[in-house]
Amino acid sequence: MSNENLTTMIYNGIEVYGGAKRERRARPNATYHEAARDVPVFAETDVLVVGGGPAGTTAAIAAGRIGADVMLVERYNHLGGLSTGGLVLWIDRMTDWTGQRVIAGVARDYLDRLPKEAVMGPLHADWGSRDDATAAYWRQRSAAFKGIVTYSPTIDPEALKTLSMQMTLEQNVRLVFHAWAAMPIVEEGAMRGAIFESKEGRQAILAKVVIDTTGDADLLARAGLSLESDIDAQDIHHTINTAFLLGGVDMERWMSFREEQRDDFSAFMVQGRKALEFFEVPSCSWRNDIALFMGPRLTGYSAVNVEDLSEVEIRSRYLTVGYVDFYRKRAPGFEKAFLMLGAPQIGVRHSRRLMGDNKVTRAQWEEGTVWDDEIGVSTSLSPNFPNISVPYGSLLPQELEGVLGAGRHIACDASSHSFLREIPQCWLTGHAAGVAAGLAAGSALEPRQVQPQMIQRELLRQGAYLSPAIEKALRQRPEEKEAGDSRARLESSGRT
Ligand SMILES: Cc1cc2nc3c(=O)[nH]c(=O)nc-3n(C[C@H](O)[C@H](O)[C@H](O)COP(=O)(O)OP(=O)(O)OC[C@H]3O[C@@H](n4cnc5c(N)ncnc54)[C@H](O)[C@@H]3O)c2cc1C
Repeated sequence: MSNENLTTMIYNGIEVYGGAKRERRARPNATYHEAARDVPVFAETDVLVVGGGPAGTTAAIAAGRIGADVMLVERYNHLGGLSTGGLVLWIDRMTDWTGQRVIAGVARDYLDRLPKEAVMGPLHADWGSRDDATAAYWRQRSAAFKGIVTYSPTIDPEALKTLSMQMTLEQNVRLVFHAWAAMPIVEEGAMRGAIFESKEGRQAILAKVVIDTTGDADLLARAGLSLESDIDAQDIHHTINTAFLLGGVDMERWMSFREEQRDDFSAFMVQGRKALEFFEVPSCSWRNDIALFMGPRLTGYSAVNVEDLSEVEIRSRYLTVGYVDFYRKRAPGFEKAFLMLGAPQIGVRHSRRLMGDNKVTRAQWEEGTVWDDEIGVSTSLSPNFPNISVPYGSLLPQELEGVLGAGRHIACDASSHSFLREIPQCWLTGHAAGVAAGLAAGSALEPRQVQPQMIQRELLRQGAYLSPAIEKALRQRPEEKEAGDSRARLESSGRT
């Protein structure tokens, strides 16, 4: 496999490989008529969650915690999505710039319950520290940014798989692995389940509420909804690649080389670029003897085009093998390195975003808006901006009832997507979607009709963090007796 069609580009100081110039293969200009048929109903449930990544797993747990009957459909054999199967084991930022933990709730439970040896990150006392030495130590280990220590641990993906399974099963969530949701079931303007494919063929699951946590808004797209896909071309957030782990390394030695032998390190990078055209350094994992490579980042590919996905796999493998060879020969600490694992899931950062009743925008974070229907608070991109209030409306697809979206396809602009797609934020939106779906199903309401304050109270009961202004407003308001107040909700979303 030749590398010659790839060109190296530099976006914001980060190198990416361009694939956009290659020509797509022509496809036959023909269609095949598939006959209509009745499909067996596999199950009926209150809440159907499609996609068991960070958002879907958290949604299922949260809905289960309020007593809903929940089914979770996942195409692979594990939970965690990209955070486990994609080897994205760097959980990038649970704390804000002051060191306050803003991503809490189920997200906090994951980190509190993972075995100690499965997590590498700064102690609570250091979160928010601006001490130069402490920040310099954690910067090398992916847990300090802009000179501030953040709670951004790296975790053992296998331990997170196990814990995710355990926490869903504790809530009696019915897990259906090796099942690919193919089509939504849409009746009278509402999603009421999905048709999925498995070794048993095509079957239907009927549900009161569906949560699309496929990462690519697969069900919303198949339902024919309008979606957004614009992305800043100068940003790495649209790049795709398959990550990999190298075992048998000594990362402490590698980091000393990088920090203390600056000239040798620069020469190493020059040699690497010459040998492989494009070159990247590893990140620390949760262990000293395992290195994480989250590139090489490829640009110009679509995450929802099957031929592009195939080509990204081929190119990623080709580059991976080149990296292993080069690092073994030349990188201190990598002499005995071996390719431990190429990620089972392709690393997609962005594909589609739903169009919601509301959305997070750059203008919002510049103004510091706190939404009345806030369902969580994200850390901001830099200390220049306040925390970002995430509205319930960003989970509600505009044109359809019966369905919520959570995870990396929530409604936001391209700038805000760069941080809302991170694992902690996907935990956050998944948590809220699960609570909202559980409340809706339990009260025979559409998700859009559920009072945001009821969702907020339940989120707080489940340990989530909300802006102080929202907590205060809730304290001053009598507790809602019913989950829904459809008129008020529809008015506040401007849809009356
Ligand atoms: C290379 C790379 C580096 C990254 N770096 C970081 C980082 O350092 N820190 C950080 O916090 N975040 C990082 N991210 C972002 C983060 O990993 C993802 O955005 C996040 O995992 C998205 O979570 P999700 O639940 O929305 O979707 P996913 O994690 O994509 O999970 C979706 C799940 O749905 C399943 N699924 C999809 N379609 C179907 C279907 N039709 N039927 C059944 N199942 C389906 C998939 O198999 C998958 O398990 C990175 C991402 C990539 C790709």
